[in-house]
Amino acid sequence: MGLLSGSGRSEVAPEPAERNVLKKFHSARYLRALKAASQGHWDSEALGMGIGTSDCPVFEGLYEYAVLAVGATITAAKLILSGSADVAFNPSGGFHHAGPERASGFCYINDVALGCLTLAEAGKKVLYLDVDVHHGDGVAYGFYDRDDVMTISFHQNPGTLFPGTGFEDETGTGQGKGYCINVPLPIGTYDQAYMKAFEAIAPPLITAFNPDVFVFELGADALAGDPLANLYLTNNVYADIIDFLLALDRPILMTGGGGYNVENTARAWALAWTVLCGADSKGEVSLGAGGVMLETTDWQGGLRDRELAVSTQQQNAVLPPIEATIETVKTKVFPIHRL
Ligand SMILES: [Zn+2]
Repeated sequence: MGLLSGSGRSEVAPEPAERNVLKKFHSARYLRALKAASQGHWDSEALGMGIGTSDCPVFEGLYEYAVLAVGATITAAKLILSGSADVAFNPSGGFHHAGPERASGFCYINDVALGCLTLAEAGKKVLYLDVDVHHGDGVAYGFYDRDDVMTISFHQNPGTLFPGTGFEDETGTGQGKGYCINVPLPIGTYDQAYMKAFEAIAPPLITAFNPDVFVFELGADALAGDPLANLYLTNNVYADIIDFLLALDRPILMTGGGGYNVENTARAWALAWTVLCGADSKGEVSLGAGGVMLETTDWQGGLRDRELAVSTQQQNAVLPPIEATIETVKTKVFPIHRL
């Protein structure tokens, strides 16, 4: 579609992340075990750290793959810090479940946490926004006691989905109290209901926090039809959120994340990149513009999903818990930011 070139756009080859960078988030013991497993030496100690489970299998070249994928996010952070880029996208990033000493949920090395750390160490206030359908636990807990990185995660209610964390009352500790925000969403959440929660919670907190830069984890597994989750979004939500972020005029480091309906995910990320680099509003991608209006669908006319019909029954099931969540978050977190 010509989206990777054009004025002001470029593809940048990632540098593999260096070990001293990885150690800012992961323990030496864990990195050793991950590298050894990748080279065929796998033991019970590694398994105890989640390496070699069905969700995080061992395969040849695992370590090199993980380090290169993380390196892409670090490369993006450096481009933003040097002023060489206003926006950057690493589709092969967003491994938000990895912990300091734990592989989890298809994630081995937490590139988004390391991206936030790289930016924070340079003195930037970082707003980490996570719209993957799963709670961004590795990042949220990685910065749980810090007030220089605010994490906001919108996800399916953890009572019904992996990893089982990310309830409204997980708000941070110590200096970080009020800087971890979780917005659990009920099964069947659709575009308008999602945006109601987003608009009630994200803009006031982001304005109060006044970040220097955004790290945006765009897992596409909240889309309707994802085989691992139960939300009901179209990719128009992602476009709207990116438009909102762009209007705030701060650099954006965007990554991929989950997304297990591959065609929908590829289209969502292509649309997200289109919006992020300003090609959507300028109409450069004529096929994408007006896709909804023309009732076009998968590859018959654009990147945007059709609007999905929402029944009254679905509205009645979704809206009350969303309204309750909005109130809970407002009660628990907003006063800390004088909202
Ligand atoms: Zn996910």
